[in-house]
Amino acid sequence: MREDRLVSPQSASGEQDSSLRPQTLGDFIGQAAVRENLKVFIEAAKSRAEAMDHVLFFGPPGLGKTTLAQIVARELGVGFRATSGPVIAKAGDLAAVLTNLEERDVLFIDEIHRLNPAIEEVLYPAMEDFQLDLIIGEGPAARSVRIGLPPFTLVGATTRSGLLTTPLRERFGIPCRMNFYTPDELESIVARGARVLGFDLTADGAAEIARRARGTPRVAGRLLRRVRDFALVAGQNTVNAAIADAALLRLEVDHLGLDSMDRRYMRCIIDNYGGGPVGVETLAAALSEARDTLEEVVEPYLLQQGLIQRTPRGRMVSSQGFKHLGLTPPKTVLAQLDLLALDEDEP
Ligand code: ADP
Repeated sequence: MREDRLVSPQSASGEQDSSLRPQTLGDFIGQAAVRENLKVFIEAAKSRAEAMDHVLFFGPPGLGKTTLAQIVARELGVGFRATSGPVIAKAGDLAAVLTNLEERDVLFIDEIHRLNPAIEEVLYPAMEDFQLDLIIGEGPAARSVRIGLPPFTLVGATTRSGLLTTPLRERFGIPCRMNFYTPDELESIVARGARVLGFDLTADGAAEIARRARGTPRVAGRLLRRVRDFALVAGQNTVNAAIADAALLRLEVDHLGLDSMDRRYMRCIIDNYGGGPVGVETLAAALSEARDTLEEVVEPYLLQQGLIQRTPRGRMVSSQGFKHLGLTPPKTVLAQLDLLALDEDEP
């Protein structure tokens, strides 16, 4: 996939998005249910002077999981350490991280579903009893040692909670599902971002960017920065909807926030497979993309917008999807979509 995809919810390497990160729970816009929950647990942990229970954030990339983990540590007034599932290659790596924690610290593990199973085993007693069981040495001389750990809070983040093993999932006392943001929430996020970046954005300009941000603050921040650059070069001091629209169209982001990758995905189903259904493996091969990329990055937003449907027999472009591309769905596709709708209505 193109590394520089403007609407990718994943963080690009070297991307400077930390300046837009909200620092406190009060600053954090959206995800009201998650925020309310965390507020209660943070208060409770503080008043008992104990480590907060372990938290699991799950949901698509770019929705604020890392940001919230940092906020939790800050609000608890404790240290924050971050690592990620694929980085922890050996049990010893995890042991080093755990034994360096201070009492009540927050340890953030991103992409926790990618932890190697042998390392996951080490994590269980650490999460449950704050104990670390290590095997030292090899063969007959090997012995197991048990090390006590300071009580800590593990904050795990995953884009796919389905990939987490049940024993790991069950050890998180506070599971939090992150959802796509509403256009209103994104509008507030964009307006706040413009204030932080110090430029003048009208309300309709903020709405225009928000509408195209795919429900994702990371995308909103990136579009905002590009629009600002565009306006700067065009010599505009104030960015309104017309300027934002012109900038984003030039960047090939349409009014729903779809980019050329999304259109290529939908066109592939339409042009090569008559609108679907087509299996995700076949699509991945036809588009030369990884299946995971399609499932984690491209499809969630198209599904949420109702532009495609996931059926037992594969992916289909919906009638809205056809219309969005300026096409009329063929009768065969409409008939299949009707059948699917009937299936869903049945108890
Ligand atoms: P994730 O860990 O879910 O991939 P991050 O926490 O790294 O996402 O957030 C991505 C970017 O989006 C960050 O730069 C952050 O500034 C911004 N962001 C996320 N959530 C919010 C929010 N609720 N309000 C404002 N900005 C946000």
